[in-house]
Amino acid sequence: MRILVTGGAGYIGSHTVKQLLARGHDVTVFDNLSAGHKAAVPAERLVTGDLRDIDHLDQLLMTSRIDAVVHFAALTYVGDSVKEPARYYTNNLIYSLNLLDRCRRNGIGKFVFSSTCAVYGVPDVVPITESEKRNPINPYGNTKLAVERALADYAAAYPIGFCALRYFNAAGASPDGTIGEYHDPESHLIPLVIQAAMGKRPHIEIFGTDYPTPDGTCVRDYVHVDDLATAHILALEKITPGTGQAYNVGIGRGYSVREVIRAVEEVSGKKVTVKEAPRRTGDPAELVANADKIRRELGWVAKYTDLRSIVETAWNWHRTHPNGYGD
Ligand code: UDP
Repeated sequence: MRILVTGGAGYIGSHTVKQLLARGHDVTVFDNLSAGHKAAVPAERLVTGDLRDIDHLDQLLMTSRIDAVVHFAALTYVGDSVKEPARYYTNNLIYSLNLLDRCRRNGIGKFVFSSTCAVYGVPDVVPITESEKRNPINPYGNTKLAVERALADYAAAYPIGFCALRYFNAAGASPDGTIGEYHDPESHLIPLVIQAAMGKRPHIEIFGTDYPTPDGTCVRDYVHVDDLATAHILALEKITPGTGQAYNVGIGRGYSVREVIRAVEEVSGKKVTVKEAPRRTGDPAELVANADKIRRELGWVAKYTDLRSIVETAWNWHRTHPNGYGD
Protein backbone atom coordinates (compact mmCIF):
# COMPACT_ATOMS: atom_id res chain seq x y z
CA MET A 1 0.00 0.00 0.00
CA ARG A 2 1.05 3.61 -0.53
CA ILE A 3 0.61 5.13 2.91
CA LEU A 4 0.85 8.71 4.10
CA VAL A 5 1.82 8.92 7.76
CA THR A 6 1.24 12.34 9.30
CA GLY A 7 3.36 12.93 12.39
CA GLY A 8 5.42 9.93 11.32
CA ALA A 9 8.64 11.37 12.80
CA GLY A 10 7.12 11.42 16.30
CA TYR A 11 7.33 8.77 18.98
CA ILE A 12 4.54 6.35 18.05
CA GLY A 13 4.64 7.47 14.41
CA SER A 14 8.30 6.56 13.88
CA HIS A 15 7.87 3.10 15.40
CA THR A 16 4.88 2.52 13.11
CA VAL A 17 6.79 3.77 10.05
CA LYS A 18 9.58 1.31 10.85
CA GLN A 19 7.14 -1.60 10.89
CA LEU A 20 5.30 -0.44 7.77
CA LEU A 21 8.58 -0.25 5.85
CA ALA A 22 9.63 -3.67 7.15
CA ARG A 23 6.37 -5.05 5.73
CA GLY A 24 7.14 -3.59 2.33
CA HIS A 25 4.69 -0.70 2.30
CA ASP A 26 5.50 2.45 0.37
CA VAL A 27 5.53 5.07 3.13
CA THR A 28 5.55 8.86 2.91
CA VAL A 29 6.03 10.66 6.24
CA PHE A 30 4.49 14.11 6.51
CA ASP A 31 5.75 15.93 9.59
CA ASN A 32 6.44 19.55 10.54
CA LEU A 33 9.15 18.39 12.97
CA SER A 34 7.66 20.48 15.79
CA ALA A 35 7.72 17.41 18.02
CA GLY A 36 9.07 14.81 15.60
CA HIS A 37 12.71 14.13 14.81
CA LYS A 38 14.37 14.00 11.42
CA ALA A 39 16.62 11.19 12.55
CA ALA A 40 13.67 9.02 13.59
CA VAL A 41 12.74 8.16 9.98
CA PRO A 42 14.67 7.41 6.78
CA ALA A 43 15.52 10.74 5.11
CA GLU A 44 14.16 9.69 1.72
CA ARG A 45 10.72 9.03 3.26
CA LEU A 46 10.31 12.40 4.96
CA VAL A 47 8.36 15.32 3.54
CA THR A 48 8.63 18.27 5.89
CA GLY A 49 5.31 20.06 5.83
CA ASP A 50 2.47 21.35 7.91
CA LEU A 51 -1.14 20.19 7.91
CA ARG A 52 -2.25 23.82 7.74
CA ASP A 53 -0.82 23.92 4.21
CA ILE A 54 -3.76 22.27 2.50
CA ASP A 55 -2.41 22.77 -1.00
CA HIS A 56 0.82 20.98 -0.13
CA LEU A 57 -1.17 18.14 1.37
CA ASP A 58 -3.50 17.92 -1.59
CA GLN A 59 -0.63 17.81 -4.02
CA LEU A 60 1.04 15.06 -2.01
CA LEU A 61 -2.12 12.95 -1.82
CA MET A 62 -2.53 13.20 -5.56
CA THR A 63 1.01 12.87 -6.82
CA SER A 64 1.94 10.04 -4.46
CA ARG A 65 -1.31 8.21 -5.28
CA ILE A 66 -1.89 7.49 -1.61
CA ASP A 67 -4.12 4.50 -0.70
CA ALA A 68 -4.29 5.03 3.06
CA VAL A 69 -3.57 7.67 5.68
CA VAL A 70 -2.32 7.06 9.21
CA HIS A 71 -2.88 10.27 11.12
CA PHE A 72 -0.65 10.81 14.16
CA ALA A 73 0.10 14.53 13.85
CA ALA A 74 -1.39 16.23 16.89
CA LEU A 75 -0.63 18.11 20.07
CA THR A 76 -0.66 15.63 22.92
CA TYR A 77 -0.37 17.31 26.31
CA VAL A 78 -3.49 17.29 28.44
CA GLY A 79 -2.27 20.13 30.68
CA ASP A 80 -1.43 22.40 27.73
CA SER A 81 -4.82 21.69 26.19
CA VAL A 82 -6.50 23.11 29.29
CA LYS A 83 -4.38 26.27 29.13
CA GLU A 84 -4.47 26.71 25.36
CA PRO A 85 -7.62 25.09 23.99
CA ALA A 86 -7.49 27.25 20.84
CA ARG A 87 -4.20 25.69 19.78
CA TYR A 88 -5.57 22.20 20.45
CA TYR A 89 -8.84 22.73 18.59
CA THR A 90 -6.96 24.21 15.64
CA ASN A 91 -4.27 21.55 15.39
CA ASN A 92 -6.14 18.47 16.51
CA LEU A 93 -9.62 19.15 15.21
CA ILE A 94 -9.53 21.65 12.34
CA TYR A 95 -6.40 20.23 10.70
CA SER A 96 -7.72 16.69 11.13
CA LEU A 97 -11.01 17.64 9.49
CA ASN A 98 -9.10 19.29 6.63
CA LEU A 99 -7.04 16.16 6.15
CA LEU A 100 -10.08 13.89 6.31
CA ASP A 101 -11.89 15.96 3.73
CA ARG A 102 -8.89 15.96 1.39
CA CYS A 103 -8.84 12.17 1.72
CA ARG A 104 -12.50 12.05 0.74
CA ARG A 105 -11.96 14.28 -2.27
CA ASN A 106 -8.96 12.24 -3.39
CA GLY A 107 -10.83 8.96 -3.05
CA ILE A 108 -8.65 7.59 -0.24
CA GLY A 109 -10.53 4.71 1.35
CA LYS A 110 -8.59 4.00 4.55
CA PHE A 111 -7.90 6.24 7.52
CA VAL A 112 -6.25 5.18 10.78
CA PHE A 113 -6.59 7.70 13.59
CA SER A 114 -4.55 8.13 16.77
CA SER A 115 -7.15 8.38 19.47
CA THR A 116 -6.78 8.07 23.19
CA CYS A 117 -8.24 6.63 26.38
CA ALA A 118 -8.78 10.29 27.32
CA VAL A 119 -12.05 10.05 25.33
CA TYR A 120 -13.49 8.14 28.31
CA GLY A 121 -12.76 10.79 30.92
CA VAL A 122 -13.35 9.21 34.32
CA PRO A 123 -14.65 5.71 33.53
CA ASP A 124 -17.45 4.07 35.50
CA VAL A 125 -15.97 0.61 35.02
CA VAL A 126 -12.31 -0.47 34.82
CA PRO A 127 -10.97 -2.29 32.78
CA ILE A 128 -12.55 -0.03 30.19
CA THR A 129 -14.39 -1.45 27.19
CA GLU A 130 -15.13 0.51 24.03
CA SER A 131 -18.78 0.79 25.06
CA GLU A 132 -17.90 2.80 28.17
CA LYS A 133 -19.47 6.27 28.03
CA ARG A 134 -17.26 8.81 26.31
CA ASN A 135 -17.06 11.90 28.40
CA PRO A 136 -13.65 13.60 28.14
CA ILE A 137 -12.59 15.86 31.00
CA ASN A 138 -10.14 18.04 29.06
CA PRO A 139 -9.88 19.77 25.66
CA TYR A 140 -7.36 17.20 24.40
CA GLY A 141 -9.87 14.38 24.88
CA ASN A 142 -12.65 16.54 23.42
CA THR A 143 -10.71 17.16 20.20
CA LYS A 144 -9.94 13.46 19.76
CA LEU A 145 -13.55 12.46 20.37
CA ALA A 146 -14.78 15.10 17.93
CA VAL A 147 -12.55 13.65 15.20
CA GLU A 148 -13.79 10.13 15.99
CA ARG A 149 -17.35 11.38 15.51
CA ALA A 150 -16.49 13.05 12.20
CA LEU A 151 -14.88 9.81 11.03
CA ALA A 152 -18.04 7.86 11.86
CA ASP A 153 -20.19 10.37 9.97
CA TYR A 154 -17.87 10.30 6.97
CA ALA A 155 -17.79 6.50 6.91
CA ALA A 156 -21.61 6.43 6.97
CA ALA A 157 -21.89 8.81 4.04
CA TYR A 158 -18.79 8.31 1.87
CA PRO A 159 -16.62 5.43 0.64
CA ILE A 160 -14.02 5.92 3.35
CA GLY A 161 -13.29 3.53 6.19
CA PHE A 162 -11.50 4.15 9.46
CA CYS A 163 -10.02 2.70 12.61
CA ALA A 164 -9.67 4.88 15.68
CA LEU A 165 -7.06 3.41 18.01
CA ARG A 166 -7.54 4.52 21.58
CA TYR A 167 -4.07 4.34 23.04
CA PHE A 168 -3.52 3.84 26.71
CA ASN A 169 -0.01 4.85 27.92
CA ALA A 170 2.57 4.39 25.17
CA ALA A 171 5.93 3.36 26.57
CA GLY A 172 9.24 1.72 25.71
CA ALA A 173 11.46 1.90 22.66
CA SER A 174 12.48 -0.20 19.70
CA PRO A 175 14.37 -3.23 21.05
CA ASP A 176 17.12 -2.73 18.45
CA GLY A 177 17.90 0.59 20.15
CA THR A 178 17.56 2.72 17.00
CA ILE A 179 14.50 4.79 17.91
CA GLY A 180 12.79 5.70 21.15
CA GLU A 181 10.94 8.33 23.12
CA TYR A 182 12.31 11.84 23.24
CA HIS A 183 10.26 14.89 24.14
CA ASP A 184 11.63 18.27 25.11
CA PRO A 185 10.39 19.24 27.60
CA GLU A 186 9.56 15.76 28.90
CA SER A 187 6.40 15.24 30.94
CA HIS A 188 5.84 11.49 30.76
CA LEU A 189 6.42 9.32 33.77
CA ILE A 190 8.72 6.58 32.49
CA PRO A 191 11.27 8.82 30.73
CA LEU A 192 11.26 11.19 33.71
CA VAL A 193 11.98 8.38 36.17
CA ILE A 194 14.70 7.10 33.86
CA GLN A 195 16.25 10.57 33.70
CA ALA A 196 16.19 10.69 37.51
CA ALA A 197 17.90 7.26 37.61
CA MET A 198 20.54 8.58 35.19
CA GLY A 199 21.22 11.54 37.47
CA LYS A 200 19.83 14.02 34.92
CA ARG A 201 17.10 15.07 37.37
CA PRO A 202 17.40 15.38 41.13
CA HIS A 203 14.17 13.51 41.86
CA ILE A 204 10.80 12.38 40.56
CA GLU A 205 7.58 13.88 41.85
CA ILE A 206 4.61 11.61 42.42
CA PHE A 207 1.48 13.52 41.48
CA GLY A 208 -0.99 12.42 44.14
CA THR A 209 -0.66 9.75 46.81
CA ASP A 210 -4.26 9.79 48.04
CA TYR A 211 -6.03 8.12 45.12
CA PRO A 212 -8.41 5.21 45.82
CA THR A 213 -5.87 2.71 44.47
CA PRO A 214 -3.89 0.00 46.33
CA ASP A 215 -0.87 2.24 47.03
CA GLY A 216 -2.60 5.61 46.64
CA THR A 217 -0.92 6.53 43.34
CA CYS A 218 -2.46 6.57 39.85
CA VAL A 219 -2.73 3.34 37.93
CA ARG A 220 -2.12 3.26 34.18
CA ASP A 221 -1.94 0.64 31.43
CA TYR A 222 1.53 0.95 29.85
CA VAL A 223 1.63 -0.56 26.37
CA HIS A 224 4.83 -1.01 24.38
CA VAL A 225 5.17 1.36 21.44
CA ASP A 226 5.97 -1.52 19.07
CA ASP A 227 2.75 -3.26 20.09
CA LEU A 228 0.90 -0.01 19.42
CA ALA A 229 2.62 0.19 16.03
CA THR A 230 1.46 -3.33 15.18
CA ALA A 231 -2.13 -2.32 15.92
CA HIS A 232 -1.90 0.25 13.09
CA ILE A 233 -0.66 -2.35 10.62
CA LEU A 234 -3.48 -4.74 11.52
CA ALA A 235 -5.99 -1.89 11.29
CA LEU A 236 -4.79 -0.92 7.81
CA GLU A 237 -5.19 -4.49 6.64
CA LYS A 238 -8.71 -4.71 8.02
CA ILE A 239 -10.35 -1.41 7.08
CA THR A 240 -12.88 -1.47 4.29
CA PRO A 241 -14.39 1.71 2.86
CA GLY A 242 -17.69 2.71 4.42
CA THR A 243 -17.01 1.02 7.76
CA GLY A 244 -15.32 2.12 10.96
CA GLN A 245 -14.36 0.86 14.39
CA ALA A 246 -12.70 2.15 17.54
CA TYR A 247 -10.37 -0.09 19.51
CA ASN A 248 -8.69 0.17 22.89
CA VAL A 249 -4.99 -0.60 22.75
CA GLY A 250 -3.51 -1.54 26.11
CA ILE A 251 -2.14 -4.66 27.80
CA GLY A 252 -5.10 -4.93 30.16
CA ARG A 253 -2.98 -4.65 33.26
CA GLY A 254 -2.43 -1.56 35.39
CA TYR A 255 0.66 -0.36 37.23
CA SER A 256 0.85 2.38 39.82
CA VAL A 257 3.28 5.29 39.72
CA ARG A 258 5.19 3.69 42.60
CA GLU A 259 5.41 0.40 40.67
CA VAL A 260 6.82 2.26 37.66
CA ILE A 261 9.47 3.86 39.85
CA ARG A 262 10.35 0.46 41.35
CA ALA A 263 10.59 -1.13 37.87
CA VAL A 264 13.02 1.58 36.71
CA GLU A 265 15.11 1.13 39.86
CA GLU A 266 15.27 -2.63 39.30
CA VAL A 267 16.14 -2.39 35.62
CA SER A 268 18.71 0.39 36.05
CA GLY A 269 20.18 -0.75 39.37
CA LYS A 270 19.93 2.91 40.54
CA LYS A 271 17.99 4.42 43.40
CA VAL A 272 15.55 7.20 42.51
CA THR A 273 14.72 10.02 44.93
CA VAL A 274 10.97 10.43 45.23
CA LYS A 275 8.99 13.49 46.30
CA GLU A 276 5.30 13.34 47.00
CA ALA A 277 3.41 16.16 45.30
CA PRO A 278 -0.24 17.19 44.91
CA ARG A 279 -2.48 15.59 42.32
CA ARG A 280 -2.15 16.79 38.71
CA THR A 281 -5.41 18.26 37.40
CA GLY A 282 -7.32 15.99 35.08
CA ASP A 283 -5.75 12.67 36.13
CA PRO A 284 -8.29 9.87 36.68
CA ALA A 285 -7.25 7.37 39.40
CA GLU A 286 -7.17 4.33 37.18
CA LEU A 287 -7.11 3.77 33.41
CA VAL A 288 -6.76 0.18 32.28
CA ALA A 289 -7.89 -1.19 28.93
CA ASN A 290 -10.11 -4.11 28.18
CA ALA A 291 -8.51 -4.92 24.82
CA ASP A 292 -10.65 -7.97 23.99
CA LYS A 293 -12.15 -6.26 20.94
CA ILE A 294 -8.88 -5.61 19.11
CA ARG A 295 -7.64 -9.09 19.98
CA ARG A 296 -10.84 -10.66 18.69
CA GLU A 297 -11.41 -8.55 15.58
CA LEU A 298 -7.87 -7.69 14.45
CA GLY A 299 -5.91 -10.56 15.99
CA TRP A 300 -3.72 -8.10 17.92
CA VAL A 301 -1.49 -9.68 20.55
CA ALA A 302 0.82 -7.68 22.81
CA LYS A 303 4.38 -9.01 22.75
CA TYR A 304 5.24 -7.06 25.88
CA THR A 305 2.90 -8.08 28.66
CA ASP A 306 4.64 -6.79 31.74
CA LEU A 307 6.04 -3.46 32.83
CA ARG A 308 9.58 -4.65 33.39
CA SER A 309 10.15 -5.78 29.81
CA ILE A 310 8.75 -2.47 28.56
CA VAL A 311 10.96 -0.44 30.91
CA GLU A 312 14.02 -2.44 29.82
CA THR A 313 13.64 -1.25 26.23
CA ALA A 314 13.11 2.35 27.40
CA TRP A 315 16.15 2.20 29.68
CA ASN A 316 18.29 0.80 26.87
CA TRP A 317 17.28 3.67 24.57
CA HIS A 318 17.85 6.44 27.14
CA ARG A 319 21.14 4.96 28.30
CA THR A 320 22.50 4.91 24.76
CA HIS A 321 20.87 8.23 23.72
CA PRO A 322 21.28 10.53 26.74
CA ASN A 323 20.51 13.52 24.51
CA GLY A 324 17.73 11.86 22.54
CA TYR A 325 18.11 12.44 18.81
CA GLY A 326 20.54 15.27 19.44
CA ASP A 327 18.43 17.79 17.56
N1 UDP B 1 3.14 11.23 36.87
C1 UDP B 1 3.78 11.52 38.08
N2 UDP B 1 4.90 12.30 38.05
C2 UDP B 1 5.41 12.83 36.89
C3 UDP B 1 4.75 12.53 35.67
C4 UDP B 1 3.61 11.73 35.70
O1 UDP B 1 3.37 11.09 39.15
O2 UDP B 1 6.41 13.55 36.95
C5 UDP B 1 1.94 10.37 36.89
C6 UDP B 1 0.71 11.04 36.30
O3 UDP B 1 0.02 11.74 37.30
C7 UDP B 1 -0.06 9.82 35.77
C8 UDP B 1 1.04 8.81 35.40
O4 UDP B 1 2.21 9.27 36.07
O5 UDP B 1 -0.82 9.25 36.80
C9 UDP B 1 1.31 8.75 33.91
O6 UDP B 1 1.48 10.09 33.44
P1 UDP B 1 2.02 10.42 32.00
O7 UDP B 1 2.16 11.92 31.91
O8 UDP B 1 3.23 9.59 31.70
O9 UDP B 1 0.89 9.90 31.01
P2 UDP B 1 -0.69 10.25 30.93
O10 UDP B 1 -1.36 9.25 31.83
O11 UDP B 1 -0.89 11.66 31.37
O12 UDP B 1 -1.01 10.01 29.50
